Amino acid sequence: MSAHGVVNPATEEVIGTVDLCDAASTDAAIERSHKAFSAWRAVSPGDRARLLRRFAEGVDANLEELAQLEVANSGHTISNARWEAGNVRDVLNYYAAAPERLIGQQIPVPGGVDVTFHEPLGVVGVIVPWNFPMPIAGWGFAPALAAGNTVVLKPAELTPLTAIRIGEIAREAGIPEDVLQILPGRGAVVGQRFVDHPLVRKIVFTGSTAVGKQVMAGCAAHVKRVTLELGGKNANIIFADADLERAAATAPYGVFDNAGQDCCARSRILVQRSVFDRFLELFEPAVNGVVVGDPAAEATEMGPLISAEHRSRVAGYLNETTVAFQGDCPDGPGFWFPPTVVLPASNSERVVTEEVFGPIVTVTAFDDESDAIALANDTEYGLSGSIWTTNVGRALRVARAVEAGNLSVNSHSSVRYWTPFGGVKQSGLGRELGPDALHAFTETKNVFIATD
Ligand code: NAD
Repeated sequence: MSAHGVVNPATEEVIGTVDLCDAASTDAAIERSHKAFSAWRAVSPGDRARLLRRFAEGVDANLEELAQLEVANSGHTISNARWEAGNVRDVLNYYAAAPERLIGQQIPVPGGVDVTFHEPLGVVGVIVPWNFPMPIAGWGFAPALAAGNTVVLKPAELTPLTAIRIGEIAREAGIPEDVLQILPGRGAVVGQRFVDHPLVRKIVFTGSTAVGKQVMAGCAAHVKRVTLELGGKNANIIFADADLERAAATAPYGVFDNAGQDCCARSRILVQRSVFDRFLELFEPAVNGVVVGDPAAEATEMGPLISAEHRSRVAGYLNETTVAFQGDCPDGPGFWFPPTVVLPASNSERVVTEEVFGPIVTVTAFDDESDAIALANDTEYGLSGSIWTTNVGRALRVARAVEAGNLSVNSHSSVRYWTPFGGVKQSGLGRELGPDALHAFTETKNVFIATD
């Protein structure tokens, strides 16, 4: 164990220290998790459902505390942070209905009866990034626990506080000891042990594509199950027949929410050439209207970036492109960066091809539907995207043609816990949330019983 300072990104003040697990304490936690598995999977479905609902009630009762903790640790706006804690509650409630509905099949076969069971996997390792510490943790642990698995969860180095508190709430709600363990620590130590330890049967990894590839390669050595939620470079496609006022008014929030530190950020705006100038006229005041500042203030719409190092990485993109206009942000302490709009000279600029993960958006013109689709798909990523048009046929044609896991028409919403979420191409593998996510945490077992 070693101590690690946690910094408030809006003030640069150290707000606490957290003990980081080392490899030996991680192994010991995995072994305890494995020991807890046989009793947890044997908890009757109704009791497991009741415990998860009580856990959800605990999150709800502590929602404001969790939200304030996220504001302080991650610089999220208070309104976002409340939504994020509420999402953990909702996802727990949603999957609390699952243990009593984990129904197998009875398959007609000659000579006997054939039935299938959805068996839990064992210990599941959940590895979480810093950009949405609460929801991403919940999308992993809630269905994993509901299906009868035990969970070891590693928060990101920079943002461990809400996960630690959620682990305490789970215990207070009666989730048995060692069924959900929160292990703060470094990716190369704790995360790597999750990947390498043979008793961890599945990894749920959310983070960068580069680390995701290493995790997948490490899992291959054990044929370990893996779900990957990786980066994105998502297009916001605006056709000339769209409600241009609404498209321009909402576009800033489609990319600058969470200061652009969102795998679903619509960071490439593609606008049909005939309305390109008009769109920019409407877009500039909308960008200037984004309220950037103290994340604890109710009216704030965008907070700081997560760290000084991340801010200089984001700023680096502006050395190689043309800034059209920028909004405002506070001076002084805090890792501030203004909402920034770029008109790239070419689609090969890094700001167009790479995930910036900050409040920078590019705006590019296209000629027609096929041009828009080609530009949208000109990336190794495929997570989300938006399509703005009043033509229903076009909306569906383009939605089917864009290579991404989550698309929205006349909206920028990607995440609803009732519906599947995940990426294609190098944005990930597998789906979280929705009615089917539970099966990513079970194996189908087939049993034949001879009757002859
Ligand atoms: P990251 O890849 O640096 O780290 C993610 C997590 O992996 C952290 O907890 C880190 O400690 C851990 N880690 C690092 N090295 C590891 C290793 N060798 N083995 C195991 N674990 C290791 O990503 P980040 O900078 O924290 O997060 C930003 C990235 O996450 C962006 O690319 C973003 O697009 C992506 N993201 C994707 C989704 C999605 O659902 N698709 C959601 C949020 C964020």
